[in-house]
Amino acid sequence: MPTSKKPAKKPAPKTGELAAPKGMRDLINEEYYLFQGFFEKAQEVAMYYGFKPIETPMLEQDFIFSSGIGAGTDVVDKEMYTLRTKGGDMLALRPEHTASLMRAYIEHGMANQPQPCMFYQYGPSFRHDNPQKGRYREFYQFDIDALGSEKSILDALVIKTMLTIINESGAPATSIDLNSIGCKDCRPGYVRELVNYYKKHVNNLPAVDRERLKANPLRILDSKEEKTREINEGAPDAISFLCPACKKHFKEVLEYLEEMEVPYNINKNLVRGLSYYSRTVFEVVVPSEDGGAPMAIAGGGRYDYLGRQLGSKKDIPAIGVALGVDRLISMPWYNKHTPRIIKKPRVYFIQLGIEAKLKSLNIIEILRKAHVPMAQALSKDSLGAQLAMAEKSGAPYTIIFGQKEAIEQSVIVRNMATRSQETVKQKSLAEYMKNLNK
Ligand code: AMP
Repeated sequence: MPTSKKPAKKPAPKTGELAAPKGMRDLINEEYYLFQGFFEKAQEVAMYYGFKPIETPMLEQDFIFSSGIGAGTDVVDKEMYTLRTKGGDMLALRPEHTASLMRAYIEHGMANQPQPCMFYQYGPSFRHDNPQKGRYREFYQFDIDALGSEKSILDALVIKTMLTIINESGAPATSIDLNSIGCKDCRPGYVRELVNYYKKHVNNLPAVDRERLKANPLRILDSKEEKTREINEGAPDAISFLCPACKKHFKEVLEYLEEMEVPYNINKNLVRGLSYYSRTVFEVVVPSEDGGAPMAIAGGGRYDYLGRQLGSKKDIPAIGVALGVDRLISMPWYNKHTPRIIKKPRVYFIQLGIEAKLKSLNIIEILRKAHVPMAQALSKDSLGAQLAMAEKSGAPYTIIFGQKEAIEQSVIVRNMATRSQETVKQKSLAEYMKNLNK
């Protein structure tokens, strides 16, 4: 996962200090809107490609992740937040969304519905990793998945949908790094070959990769250790070991990508960090912020065996991808998608005197029902302070509501550009504002 080594600015809070936990943060103001605008856009794209929403709990029984993602992965061995409830259940905060989705598919008998079942989902994931720039302990992912079919066209559909989301967010030049790590028939032969190869180089392997040789040899291929990377140059590649069925599947995926003119690069060292993957694995790569090495912003692949690992009696072939939203929206090229709910105020509401303040919320309710976006300073009393704020807000109209208007059931609507104003009866205010908006 290419991230800069620069440590996060915020130090860990001391016990009892009032601060969000290390690696977690509040989303406020502009940052909140960045996330909201992105999620709206991403949902829209996913919906047009035929994906439906699903939301699973943030907590699952911990075996969903330990048997699903698998021991020997950093995510499960080192980074998972687990807790024992007062009732004695062992739960874990989701470190990603895929295993929860598969659990939901099995639990709700979705195999009996027309296949594939296509979902999008988004929300926070939790990993107890070392916070750095672009790496948080609570971070947001947007996922796209198709479950219940092994057809290669679904690999292409999932990749294309995610690419569209990333491209419509302003990415200048995305490409796909991909590989096929085979199936249960051909992968063992490849892993044997790989283990033999690393055994020959074991004296030069760093300790962390010697450990992986026992627990999860495939992971050595995406090691960040300089020494291992040199050794990996000569490592056997998975594609040469694919059985005829996997070879055909991979060839078809490439044909679909070529047909859609999606640039791709076959990366023989790409295996991905989670152990449930089979056949296609891929990452969406974008130019990095500082002109350094391109960085993976989304990653995914097939997880045809995850269903069985979670207890399904039948195979549930599936393909999915997860996008790191925190990283995407921090890119200098990110196109801010304005959330639909954010509207510039058309009216600044000013109230004067006790009688008017008492009835203020009734006027605001008229405006809300008429869908007129407005701003106000209800906690202020002086006309000067409220007028200054009205000017600053940039709203084209001000509504002035004083003692006289409160008694006469009217308001004054002032055009801020021309300084002209009109008294309008409250019962015709909605209609009046509608005509102004034309
Ligand atoms: P993964 O679930 O590890 O395949 O990650 C999918 C995507 O989520 C990555 O490509 C990153 O963009 C993002 N991601 C993973 N871990 C973190 C993290 N700790 N903080 C922020 N983004 C992350």
